[in-house]
Amino acid sequence: MLSEPVKRELTRIVAPENISFQPEDLLCYSYDATGRRYLPECVLFPHTAEEVSLILKMANAEGIPVVPRGAGTGFTGGSLPLRGGIVLSTERMTTIEIDADNMVGVAGAGTVTWDFAQKAESVGLFYPPDPTSLKVSTIGGNIAECAGGPRGLKYGVTKDYVLAVEVVLPTGELIKTAPGKTFKGVVGYNLTGLITGSEGTLGVVTRAWLKLLPLPEEKRLLVATFDTLERAGKTVIEIIKAGGFLPSALELIDGVCLKAVDEYAKMGLGGVGAAIIVEVDGRREVVDIDMEEARDICHRMGASSVDVAKDEKRMKELWSLRRAISPALKRVGSLKLNEDVVVPRTEIVELIRGVEGISRKRDVTIASFGHAGDGNIHVNIMVNKDDPEEVERGEASVGDLFELTLRLGGTISGEHGVGITKSDYIGMELNRDTLELMMRLKRAFDPNNILNPGKIFKEEGVGV
Ligand SMILES: Cc1cc2nc3c(=O)[nH]c(=O)nc-3n(C[C@H](O)[C@H](O)[C@H](O)COP(=O)(O)OP(=O)(O)OC[C@H]3O[C@@H](n4cnc5c(N)ncnc54)[C@H](O)[C@@H]3O)c2cc1C
Repeated sequence: MLSEPVKRELTRIVAPENISFQPEDLLCYSYDATGRRYLPECVLFPHTAEEVSLILKMANAEGIPVVPRGAGTGFTGGSLPLRGGIVLSTERMTTIEIDADNMVGVAGAGTVTWDFAQKAESVGLFYPPDPTSLKVSTIGGNIAECAGGPRGLKYGVTKDYVLAVEVVLPTGELIKTAPGKTFKGVVGYNLTGLITGSEGTLGVVTRAWLKLLPLPEEKRLLVATFDTLERAGKTVIEIIKAGGFLPSALELIDGVCLKAVDEYAKMGLGGVGAAIIVEVDGRREVVDIDMEEARDICHRMGASSVDVAKDEKRMKELWSLRRAISPALKRVGSLKLNEDVVVPRTEIVELIRGVEGISRKRDVTIASFGHAGDGNIHVNIMVNKDDPEEVERGEASVGDLFELTLRLGGTISGEHGVGITKSDYIGMELNRDTLELMMRLKRAFDPNNILNPGKIFKEEGVGV
């Protein structure tokens, strides 16, 4: 319980209009995309890194848990206040500066990724990381999770664009990990890399220096349908192997997802076995050649249909189909066990076969889609949350999936992180010594374990 003097001091640090103890606010900041809920005792909305520093100094001295929060779109429970305490929302830290000559953008942690990307685009520059949640999720949340997205195959993920971060450590010190506007820099340890993907357990990111690229001149996009998911998976591999170009997106969608989306989007894809989306970008002269090549490969691999978008409007419609999958799946099962495994690209077909096998063995519906071009498939095990026996079969399927993924040389999470939903499983992927080193790092940054406790490394009795 926060004491009255602590409440008074927190109010003094951020000003009364930037703190809430109201039950309705606490409820709004109690959940994320996992659908689980844990109530905080207060929510803070700091504007500056200095305020964040004072908050953490105090929390560290008093042993109060602090959970950083962007937009709460995380899929693994990272922003849930498992032990109550403070939710530190970054939503009022939204400054954006673009240095077009150096091709660097500087964003406050709470900046919505879409807003940052749009601002860059307004001066002819391109910020490629594009989690499907980008119209809502924040730069800080993307950095904390090292978010990826459809463009990962060609352009990489968030970590490939973070040049430096300003971070408040759990003990309150304010640091900056690198100069920020240089694309190179090897002085000391790569703290930028360590903070990126640390899931809000090592520090609160307050600002980030992000690399920008020239905006591609043109884009082309096609959607090809197939009778089976396996045939679609083989086509993904063939496009990368034989195409002679890297698509800017190469997404795979199974029949369960297509049916779910079609129920309200009515795009005529309801009865289809699987589909792939291929997007290419670059110079005008080149994109048409690449698209032609992609279309030929789809036909050669036995596509049932190939729809090349005629204009920007059609491209947007086809992308909205892809973005609608996650919400549409809510209709398929009341509980979605959402995994984001990655395998070496050549093992995608084996992964697909294995997932189909798990679905049959455990008698559960599995919906798969994702960034197949870089081997990252979102495997959604759909169960009825009111049927304990079905939930148990679903959970057993998660274990089967992780075993399969690791056997194929993959990783149990490509972009969603560990949070609380995967903390039981990280020992399957990392050996004891590796895990122990990670826990030593956590203790070095956060000796009193006040920042996002119970995340990544499970704590007995917390977050169950
Ligand atoms: C419909 C949908 C589609 C999605 N698609 C993708 C996708 O394609 N690719 C992908 O990678 N993810 C995807 N996600 C997951 C999610 O959007 C990402 O993980 C995103 O990066 C979370 O950002 P956020 O601002 O919502 O962070 P939150 O959910 O608020 O927080 C996520 C984690 O980051 C920490 N955190 C937040 N801000 C900070 C900060 N400033 N400093 C330190 N730690 C911080 C939190 O403590 C928490 O551990 C999707 C989610 C949804 C709901």
